[in-house]
Amino acid sequence: MNEIRAIKLHNSLSGKKEVFQSLAPGRVGMYVCGPTVYSDVHLGNCRTFVSFDIIYRYLMHSGYKVRYVRNITDVGHLLDDGEDRMSKGARLSQLEPMEVAQKYTVGFHDIMRIFNTLPPSIEPRATGHIPEQVEMVQAILDRGYAYEKNGSVYFDVIKFARENPAVYGQLSGRVIDELLAESRENLKHQDEKNHPADFAIWIKASEEHIMRWNSPWSIGFPGWHLECSAMSTKYLGKTFDIHGGGGDLKFPHHENEVAQNHGSCGCQPANYWLHANMLLLNGRKMSKSEGNTISPAELFSGDSPFISKGYSPMVVKFFMLMAHYRSTLDITDEALQAAEKGFRKLMETNKLLQATSISARDFDGSESDTDRAILALIDDGYKGMDDDFNTAIALASLNEIGGYVNKLVNKQLAEGDIAPWVLERMKTAFTNFIYDIFGLQDESAGAADGTVEGLMRLVLDIRANAREQKDWTTSDKIRDALTEVGIQVKDGKEGVSWNKQ
Ligand code: AMP
Ligand code: ZN
Repeated sequence: MNEIRAIKLHNSLSGKKEVFQSLAPGRVGMYVCGPTVYSDVHLGNCRTFVSFDIIYRYLMHSGYKVRYVRNITDVGHLLDDGEDRMSKGARLSQLEPMEVAQKYTVGFHDIMRIFNTLPPSIEPRATGHIPEQVEMVQAILDRGYAYEKNGSVYFDVIKFARENPAVYGQLSGRVIDELLAESRENLKHQDEKNHPADFAIWIKASEEHIMRWNSPWSIGFPGWHLECSAMSTKYLGKTFDIHGGGGDLKFPHHENEVAQNHGSCGCQPANYWLHANMLLLNGRKMSKSEGNTISPAELFSGDSPFISKGYSPMVVKFFMLMAHYRSTLDITDEALQAAEKGFRKLMETNKLLQATSISARDFDGSESDTDRAILALIDDGYKGMDDDFNTAIALASLNEIGGYVNKLVNKQLAEGDIAPWVLERMKTAFTNFIYDIFGLQDESAGAADGTVEGLMRLVLDIRANAREQKDWTTSDKIRDALTEVGIQVKDGKEGVSWNKQ
């Protein structure tokens, strides 16, 4: 395991970058709000999940054991008109709500696999945790931060905010005075809430509502915010390390989550709150409810008025990595084309690099300026990731190191300019960043899963060892066998390269 690195992250609670300190040494508990599975995920959702996948991967790469919990919202996420999104999805397609949830959960998993993201450690569903949510409603009632009206239960935001002025509004910056200034006049006709800021934690089901469960208050269903409070507590404990999600969830979802956790046990759920910024399409937030979306399938096939052609999943992922997760990212055709070039270049450089070897005989043992420059660039890449997971900086470092790789291959560097151990460090850094940290995959023909690259690396390493031992029989045997399958190995002064005929 790697030694644990010092990581700084931007905490939405303090609005500042802080040095990350996990509750238990070497372990991280991370909860990320998952998708609402009432329709296909759009690319904006994918960006958020890709961002947190990179964070998950980097924490593990940095030596932490991570429990990553990402939920599936399959009940309770209400539309503005009060209708449950899941029920609406089911009604529109004349399916059981569970059929809707299953269909889009499978689709979500497929797309996450296409983007080569790792599955979370636990993926709990809201409908599978109704007893835990009922228990939490009861705990909030018991502590006096909720009230019941006609079978529904509401969180008493005003009382909570008055008694916990440092807590309510800390995440989203809402000020309690503003809340209090809102008058009851804002309540919709027949609204049961005492105050417009209050929110439902249990909702009595109307006659036609299909998703319903028994509870001490009514046959009904939980409020949307409740599932994340209940499930994060169940799997990560009352207080855990990191809570993440898209920035649009800060308010009301996350602010209300914090209130519920405090309201039920008097404790802060997460020490660090991380928010990924929005993916824009033509300068506007990509959003299912506003119809301003491009689906991953449309982007891959090019079947969309917004783009001139299709882009592969790894190009799209590379495009996402080109921006820091806290910056907005606007999808444009030009930006995707630039990403395509950047991705191909990175993978090509890596191929050249991995196939290059320098004989130890060419090196006199000292550290050259070039060596130092390359080592500093590798360090910059890691420092970029340590600084709030800045993938843009890490990519820029790899790009600069790529310049040295090209010089090496094109013989623009003097012999012995790069020490063999520095070359090995370059190879390891590229492999670590490209495959482990970014989770990119080689999409070139015959190498869809990186297998060919990996095998070639192994075979050429064995051959290089044989040559060092002057075992020409083994070395020639390997070259002849590769020639037979159409792979040409070239031995240059600066190292070995290969290509497929
Ligand atoms: P939803 O399925 O709408 O609950 O969203 C799932 C996740 O995607 C949440 O973390 C949202 O914040 C996030 N999300 C929604 N729209 C976008 C967007 N345009 N860009 C980035 N993330 C988004
Ligand atoms: Zn959530």
